[in-house]
Amino acid sequence: MSAIDDLPPLRQVIETHGLSARKSLGQNFLLDLNLTAKIARRAGELTDCDILEIGPGPGGLTRGLLAEGARKVLAIEKDHRCMPALAEISDAYPGRLEVINGDALEVDPLSHLTPPIRVAANLPYNVGTELLVRWLTPKEWPPFWQSLTLMFQREVAERITAQPGSKAYGRLAILSQWRANTNIVMSLPPGAFSPPPKVHSAVVHLTALPEPRYPADAHTLSRIVAAAFNQRRKMLRAALKGQAPDIEDRLIAAGIKPTDRAEVVSLEQFCALARVMKDAN
Ligand code: SAM
Repeated sequence: MSAIDDLPPLRQVIETHGLSARKSLGQNFLLDLNLTAKIARRAGELTDCDILEIGPGPGGLTRGLLAEGARKVLAIEKDHRCMPALAEISDAYPGRLEVINGDALEVDPLSHLTPPIRVAANLPYNVGTELLVRWLTPKEWPPFWQSLTLMFQREVAERITAQPGSKAYGRLAILSQWRANTNIVMSLPPGAFSPPPKVHSAVVHLTALPEPRYPADAHTLSRIVAAAFNQRRKMLRAALKGQAPDIEDRLIAAGIKPTDRAEVVSLEQFCALARVMKDAN
């Protein structure tokens, strides 16, 4: 029996089901159930929510979420080897865990979930970043989710929460902070995982704002920010010169110095620029 439920400890689960970690799937498992319960608590009030969990693996975080009272967990896992271990959790929490064996980048989970919905995941960082960008850029806002609680390598977590003037500030910070409150809520050393990754990790918690922080067209903002940070060492009038022939005037109209670099431009200024650029698509 484990510290948080009547199921076997995770080391035993991994051994019983032969879940040797696969590098190709970015598998670094959390084995301490007290830690996964703590991460689950960082996801906010769970009792009245459905939780979308991506990449449950042997189920450490899944068990944390269920033990902390999640109404329902929908877990999407690519590795079919994890299915028997996840079925045991499902049996221990009747009617509260649904598992889909599939690729989170392809499965549409929404028909399986009832709002309010929170998302929690410990994912390989490339899949995590791609999903984060998708979750931040839906056609309609507010999105399907109330909050996202995501494990990233520490450097990516810092890119999400970065402020202007820092090296980590860029597209991910702008897209995240435009539509959500972002906080790093936990830091984890490599030794928290099995096998240990090379880098430190951090849990980021994002809460969806009811409306974006400043008005702007999502597509235009995304395009400008990508262009501006693609050539982050250049002055903006050069980095954005392909965006409009009169880019210098437009930068001035948005309250931005054309000789500034993207790194010092605030979210509010980027949104102002997106507004004056809307007709320049
Ligand atoms: N959540 C577990 C934990 O904390 O111990 C496992 C974390 S491990 C870092 C990432 C998990 O995501 C693995 O179980 C892996 O098989 C799964 N995974 C990787 N790519 C995926 C994808 N595209 N869709 C769904 N699951 C994926």
